[in-house]
Amino acid sequence: MASANYRTSATNVHNQLLAAWPSEVWAHVGSDLERVELVQGQTLHEAGTALKYVYFPISAVVSLVSGMQDGGSAEVAVVGHEGVVGVCAFMDGAVALSGGEVQTAGHAWRMRAPVLANHVARHAAMALPLLRYTQALLVQLAQTAACNRHHSLHQQLCRWLLLHQDRHRCDEFLVTHERMSNLLGVRRETVTACALKLQKAGLIRYGRGRLAILGRRGLEGESCECYAVVRSAYDRLRCSHLAAPPVAVHRHADPCRTLPNVLSALRQPNALLALQA
Ligand SMILES: [Zn+2]
Repeated sequence: MASANYRTSATNVHNQLLAAWPSEVWAHVGSDLERVELVQGQTLHEAGTALKYVYFPISAVVSLVSGMQDGGSAEVAVVGHEGVVGVCAFMDGAVALSGGEVQTAGHAWRMRAPVLANHVARHAAMALPLLRYTQALLVQLAQTAACNRHHSLHQQLCRWLLLHQDRHRCDEFLVTHERMSNLLGVRRETVTACALKLQKAGLIRYGRGRLAILGRRGLEGESCECYAVVRSAYDRLRCSHLAAPPVAVHRHADPCRTLPNVLSALRQPNALLALQA
């Protein structure tokens, strides 16, 4: 459900990525952001379809999912207040590469995808945080693929719980075993058995579709290295937002010189390493 536009600024958006945009940018883009309420299970877009909106979650948590021809699907990444759903919109593509499904109801900012693409083409200061975020997202996508191939479901479930808890910013959230099995791409009975094991160990509590994390340290110990790898990528992203000096925003910047220059710089050897520094 959409609500009226709010007067927004970098200080009250409650989304880490939007907050990284310099204040000068807000004069250009703030009025194009719309605060909306997302409901659990809502499909924001399906893979292969045109992106209508890009979403910057506030309290909502969104799963990026890949579907199969037989109807099965699996979560390939999760996005919360640290990121954006619809990176293709500013990567010169208007088609979603994965589906976007709301895992936890809440609020988000949204902007029309073509509008965001136009803004990014004109303001390099907007592009850099988005590209840095995309790099962290790629780490999550790659690590999820490797994890699904090499690690046990017990380890995968621990990773999944920790990544979701980070984005919920609380110890308790709503999720059913059915939903977890769909996101992990395994049978529900298998997820239930793993969850029971974690519950007996005192690491989680589950009942009536409500899951509570009781032992975060324990889950980190039970998880494979994949959680730490992904967490580290997002920690570097957050540090880069805090450390990055404001990028000069020229009111009449040549749109042909800003984003292409940024993309050109990223193609240089070690450019991605420099972004992580
Ligand atoms: Zn793993």
